[in-house]
Amino acid sequence: MSSYPPDVEDFDVFDVSERPWDESLPDARIHFDLGRAEFAGSQLARAAAEQMGAIARVLDEARRHPEIYVALDDEPTKRQLGIAMDAAIADIAMRLSMAEGTVVAQAHQADLLRQRAPQVWGAFREGEISAANARCVAATLDSLPENAATDTALDAKAIEWAVLPPARFKGRMHTLRERLHPISLTERHQEAAKGRRMWRENDRDGMAWLGVQVTAPDAEMAWQRADSMARHLAEQPGETRTLDQLRADVVADILTGRLDPATAPHATVGVLIPMMTLLSLSEEPATLDGYGPIDADTARKLTKHAPSFHRILTHPVSSTILDVDRTSYRPPADLKRWLALRDGTCRFFGCGRSARYCDVDHTKGWAQGGPTSATNLAHLSERHHTVKTESLWKVEQGPGGILTWTSPTGAIRTTDPPPF
Ligand SMILES: [Zn+2]
Repeated sequence: MSSYPPDVEDFDVFDVSERPWDESLPDARIHFDLGRAEFAGSQLARAAAEQMGAIARVLDEARRHPEIYVALDDEPTKRQLGIAMDAAIADIAMRLSMAEGTVVAQAHQADLLRQRAPQVWGAFREGEISAANARCVAATLDSLPENAATDTALDAKAIEWAVLPPARFKGRMHTLRERLHPISLTERHQEAAKGRRMWRENDRDGMAWLGVQVTAPDAEMAWQRADSMARHLAEQPGETRTLDQLRADVVADILTGRLDPATAPHATVGVLIPMMTLLSLSEEPATLDGYGPIDADTARKLTKHAPSFHRILTHPVSSTILDVDRTSYRPPADLKRWLALRDGTCRFFGCGRSARYCDVDHTKGWAQGGPTSATNLAHLSERHHTVKTESLWKVEQGPGGILTWTSPTGAIRTTDPPPF
């Protein structure tokens, strides 16, 4: 008899009709299917890695042996080599029903991972990191100049964060990229800001897109104002439009002159700025609430001249200074602002709901003696707050705001606040 719960390694040879344990037990059935789903997820990643690696190897061979794809009498010319590669790409694309651009991208991603992130490549081939996260690592590497030290650091961090869902993983990679990039964020930002623009694109059914690329603080502030106006309208009696519709209408109404922007409520956006950066003694990036790292110069300007940006200083050595004693159930405003920046979003595993629209939850209940302090408070969306308090999910908070979640079927994951 096999043991229970089953070893997932057995699953590919395992006949479902001969389940070795008592399938009349609902929790046995749940564990069986959870295991199958997890195993299938890992197989998907393995298969994606296998396909990417194989495509890259075929293209390597085509580069070395162009005679397989073009008739050659002599040493191939550069043109003939190019044609051989195109012929090989077309061959792979046809066999796999894939766009030629995808074939090229997959081979490139496999090469980047193999050469510059060997740990991630190994984990990907073992099905321990999802294809989405592995591709994100490849894209991040592609945007960083090759450098053994930064590549190794990125490889190690990606492994540490491998189980994060794609949106979370991407956010971490973004912050890490800003830190590892050899050119300072200030310099890169000045260059990138020159490209700001507005564009429009026609869509079907009488619709069109309007886009602007602006600095991250401007985008954040514009979004917050439109969002708070939309939320205000949503509360009016008889309003039937969704929040998405309302935000779009608010922006269109302001830009077309139907709505006076002066009536918009003022939103504030938090900027977490290291003390040394504020004093111009360091160029360490600041953190813009809802976005991530912004360059030191921009952060200094915002916190000096823009009252809508709420400045929060971080202590050069520790950030524990804002902890307060168990004095009241309601966290004081400073602590709340600091917590919103620390958490960024709901702290349930993988939830991306902005802290702005979350409840501040006492991890250990106030009634059970849990203090109102940063070490016992965390943002939870309404949905996950209810799951935490009214289902069999359990959570504990450790030092540094790390939450350890245990699901009713025994899965355990930790979530830590985003890196500052
Ligand atoms: Zn949530």
